[in-house]
Amino acid sequence: MKKSMMVRRMNVKPTVLKLGGSVITDKEKLLTPDLKAIERLAKEISRAKVSSLILVHGGGSFGHPVAERYAIAGGYVDPSQILGFSQTHLAMTLLNSWVMEALISHNIPAVEVHPSSCAVTKAGRIVNMELKPLKKMLKMGFVPVLYGDAVLDSEKGFAILSGDQLVSSLAIKLSACRIIMGADVDGLYTADPKTDSSAQLMDHITLEELKSLKHKIEGAKATDVTGGMLGKMLEVKLAIEHDIETVIVNATKSGRVYKALKGKKVIGTTIEKGETVG
Ligand code: ADP
Repeated sequence: MKKSMMVRRMNVKPTVLKLGGSVITDKEKLLTPDLKAIERLAKEISRAKVSSLILVHGGGSFGHPVAERYAIAGGYVDPSQILGFSQTHLAMTLLNSWVMEALISHNIPAVEVHPSSCAVTKAGRIVNMELKPLKKMLKMGFVPVLYGDAVLDSEKGFAILSGDQLVSSLAIKLSACRIIMGADVDGLYTADPKTDSSAQLMDHITLEELKSLKHKIEGAKATDVTGGMLGKMLEVKLAIEHDIETVIVNATKSGRVYKALKGKKVIGTTIEKGETVG
């Protein structure tokens, strides 16, 4: 690569794209990838030609069930969990292989970065992560691909490092310009759209508004963000505090991730640091 091209790349702030586990796997069937979705998303990412991109994916029916069986998230309490840690990581590398194959077959210069080999957490939060190879990859035009993984933990022995925590941590440390969260719903709603038919999509909210979101209190009209989406919001809040704009789009619907990557208008929720209106 020419030196001038390298210098240009160095100045481009990366975009961090998360593909949710519910998007790329069949959550009802153990260890089952959604190959159609993975293939379509690889095509969309390839077509978007983002100049600096980091990809993170979730675990869906791969990582979660195995990690749960061995109670990996709770930390080390019993020697039998050691093999469970290995199996959790193996399950994630199997899913990751499907993603890598699709990306590379669409000419995306993707390279996997295994979190268990480069990150250490303390009580579940990243305290140490080797970023040099990742930075060098970005500089050279590679697309680093990470995923939620079982990692070593300085207090608990081991822990689960979620893809969502990786997204915000990498976005902050690598000064990303944007985060795109690919979910299996259209964005952030006033309640879980899967269980509440009156839930309304919020197309734009500020950090202040995000901070005031609460669990539903009986009778109160507070926004009800629960489950995976609540965890996601708690993580991305940290990046938005660093002025990194975050967009949540439905990655199960064709073209949404493409449009978000291109910065085009797309159905979803944009969360910005901005001032609260009203
Ligand atoms: P992934 O596995 O793709 O990372 P999760 O399934 O963990 O994502 O989290 C997303 C889920 O969170 C959605 O499918 C939805 O059912 C749920 N959810 C709960 N509350 C909300 C809300 N207020 N708005 C949107 N989704 C919500």
